[in-house]
Amino acid sequence: MAEMAQTRISRKVKTQMKEKTIPIHKERLIKNFQRLVSIDAPSFGERRMADVLKEELESLGFTVEEDDGGSIYGGTAGNVYAFRKGTLPGTPILFSTHMDTVEPSGGKKALVGGDGRITSDGTTVLGADCMSGTAALLEALKELSEEGADCRDLEIVFFIGEEKHLKGSAVFDFSKVKAKESYILDLTGPVGTAAFQAPTLVNFQIEVEGRAAHAGLSPETGIHAIAIAAKAVSRMELGHVGKDMTVNIGAIHGGGANSNIVPEHCHLVGEVRSYSHEQAMEQTRHIEALFLEEAEKAGGKSRMTYEVPICAYRTPEEHSCVRRFRAACDRLGISSSLVKTFGGSDQSNLSLHGVSGLVLASAMELVHSCQEYTEISELVKLTQLLKLLIQDID
Ligand SMILES: [Zn+2]
Repeated sequence: MAEMAQTRISRKVKTQMKEKTIPIHKERLIKNFQRLVSIDAPSFGERRMADVLKEELESLGFTVEEDDGGSIYGGTAGNVYAFRKGTLPGTPILFSTHMDTVEPSGGKKALVGGDGRITSDGTTVLGADCMSGTAALLEALKELSEEGADCRDLEIVFFIGEEKHLKGSAVFDFSKVKAKESYILDLTGPVGTAAFQAPTLVNFQIEVEGRAAHAGLSPETGIHAIAIAAKAVSRMELGHVGKDMTVNIGAIHGGGANSNIVPEHCHLVGEVRSYSHEQAMEQTRHIEALFLEEAEKAGGKSRMTYEVPICAYRTPEEHSCVRRFRAACDRLGISSSLVKTFGGSDQSNLSLHGVSGLVLASAMELVHSCQEYTEISELVKLTQLLKLLIQDID
């Protein structure tokens, strides 16, 4: 999931229009949500979920294929891609959720409370992340099919391994995607909220190498790896760095079991996030330089390695996917609100491959905890919103 929307920057749009009544098979929607939640789908264990979703999509007239993404990670299923020709002109619109759930998730159940709130039994997550969006999307498609409504060409992707730093979409073959705009159902917050901007994330590891020596007899012959790391960290800016960047050292391990040895090694992990990809990379190089400098001063060595699991994107407000989203919210009589997120989602990889989009709030709250819940009223609203987005209301 994209982490909780962080900065609400956009205006509320007009909500005075009369709410459009969009019929929803509420009972069927809830039942299907419960059924999807009951399927165990930990990251890289999505086999049963993939089979169920493929069957659903095929019954809705989609051509469905599964890639071998799972085998790359030793998983049980690949990413599921589906296409259906529509009756309206225009390039396809892409909708996507992810199939995997964070732990603890084994044997999860969706319990409907009298207050319209759906929770787990408290021993697992609920899996509304991402089954709320998935159930709502399937229900919207079913209803439009039953109504014989005109739709645009549609592409749907259900990704594996999203919760493991977007592993599924990282290996997906985007060359088959014809859409230029996408809606990812993977954000907390009231339905009508959408993230249009997300950062670059750099995960780095630093190995500092010194020289071991007896700490009492000849400390002067050693090179203290922890001291090198400490000096470099003390020169780093941590937390918010400027307006649009954060820097963190998340862990530090150094030395051995004995207090009488000058530590030879020190290992650190950290991250940089920024809405500017260039600034994130520049900051990473700056941190690398600080460690190299301190290591050199002490006669030691330092080596940094890093991964960039997500790259920054910003979907312009004038983009057709934003216009369509706002128009749909207006039609529903709900406020639309564009927000930035400082977390990643599969939209990061879509944007990297030329598909601009929004991450939509999708009826999931307190995600990644056993208190996770969804509200029936929000599930219904999301389904209504999706019915509008699937049709051509631009
Ligand atoms: Zn998610």
